Amino acid sequence: MILNADVVVAGGGHAGCAAAITLSGSGKTVVLLRRAFTDKGLPETLSPAAVPILVQLGLNREQIDCAFPRLNARLSQWGRGSFQSIDMLPNSHAPLLLGKSELDAQLISAVRRSSCQIVEIERIEAALISDDGILVRSRTANGAICLVRAQAAIEATGRSSSLARQFGVRRKIHDSLVSFWISGETWGALSHATLTATVGDGWIFFAPNDPGRGSIGYFTAGSRLRKKPSAASIAKRALSIPDLAACIEFKGWCGSAVTTCNSTMSALNQPYGDGWIACGDALQTLDPLASSGNFLALRQGLDAANVLSSIDRHERMDRLRKYCGDAREDFETVLSRRSRFYGTSEQLRTATM
Ligand SMILES: Cc1cc2nc3c(=O)[nH]c(=O)nc-3n(C[C@H](O)[C@H](O)[C@H](O)COP(=O)(O)OP(=O)(O)OC[C@H]3O[C@@H](n4cnc5c(N)ncnc54)[C@H](O)[C@@H]3O)c2cc1C
Repeated sequence: MILNADVVVAGGGHAGCAAAITLSGSGKTVVLLRRAFTDKGLPETLSPAAVPILVQLGLNREQIDCAFPRLNARLSQWGRGSFQSIDMLPNSHAPLLLGKSELDAQLISAVRRSSCQIVEIERIEAALISDDGILVRSRTANGAICLVRAQAAIEATGRSSSLARQFGVRRKIHDSLVSFWISGETWGALSHATLTATVGDGWIFFAPNDPGRGSIGYFTAGSRLRKKPSAASIAKRALSIPDLAACIEFKGWCGSAVTTCNSTMSALNQPYGDGWIACGDALQTLDPLASSGNFLALRQGLDAANVLSSIDRHERMDRLRKYCGDAREDFETVLSRRSRFYGTSEQLRTATM
C-alpha cells in the first residue's frame, strides 16, 4: 500500500489523535498510523484544563462529563509534611477520573469523523527524510507493508519515540522510576479523591476506579530494585498512611496481581527536525505523579498541528519557538517541584527493596 499525504501522524494515542483531528480540520490531508490501544487498566486522571481541548477536538461535552467523573480532592503528603493540595503543574487540581480506553474510543471516533485516513499498523519499520519530504514504512496489522509519503510528520509514538529513533534522535533519561500497582476494595473518604504520600523507600499513589474499588501504585527508584515487590509488601506500605488505612483492609489487597509500569522521566534530545515535530510522551515523558501527561499530550498534539498548519514561514517559526519553550518550561517545572516535594535526590539514593 502506498499513500500520499500532507502530514503523516505516527502514533494514535491522545497526542496523535489531537494532532490528526486538528490538521484535518485545517484542510491538510492526513494519514494516522495507529497501533491498537492496549489498556493496562490502571487509574489515571485528567486535568480539567483538558476539557475545553476535547470539546475543540469535537468531543461531546455531556459525554465527557458522563464518562469521566470529577474527583473532589487531591491529597498530597510529601516527606513529613501534613496533607495538602500541591500541584506539580497548574490546573491538575480536582481532576477527572479517566477511563483511558473510553477516552481513546471517543478520540478515535472524532478522528474517523474528520477527513483523516487511519491505517492500523503493527510497527514503524523505517523512515527517511529527503528533499521531497518524509517517507515512512510500516507493517500493517495484517502483515502487509504500508508506505506513506508526506511533506511533514508528527512524532506521537509515546515514550518509544519510534519515529524519531529512525532519524537518529535519542532520549535523555532523567531518572529511573518504576511503579507497581495493586487493586482492591475501598470505602469512605477516598471514594472521590486521589492521595499521594511519601513512604520510607518511595511514594504511594491511590486513586479510586470502579465504585467501591481502587488502585494503589507504589513508585520507587528502578535502579535500586532487587526484585518485584509482592502485593502484601505494597499493601503494608499503604497501610502506614493513616488516611489510607482508614479506607482499605490488608486482607482484601494482599492477594492482588501486581502490574509493573515504567515511570521514568525522559525527554527527546531534539524536539523537532527537518519536516517533523514531536509531541506528548514522544517529546517528553513526565513523572506520572504530576498527573499532567494526558493533558499535555492533548495540548501538544493540538499545538504541534498548529505549527505545521501555518503557511507563513515566519509565523511557523514563531509558533515552533513558543511550542518548544512551553514544553521546556513544563518539564523543568515538574523536575524542580518534584525534587522539592519528593526530596527525590535523597529518596533515589537510599531506596532499597
Ligand atoms: C503509571 C502511569 C500513570 C500515569 N498516570 C497519569 C495520570 O494520572 N494523569 C495524567 O495526566 N497522566 C498520567 N500518566 C501519563 C499519561 O499516561 C501519558 O502522558 C499519556 O498517555 C501520553 O499520551 P501520548 O499520546 O503522548 O502517548 P501514548 O498514550 O503512549 O500513545 C502512543 C501511541 O503510539 C503507539 N506506538 C508506540 N510505538 C509505536 C510504533 N513503533 N509504531 C506505531 N505505533 C506506536 C502506541 O501503541 C500508542 O498508541 C501516567 C503514566 C504512567 C506510566
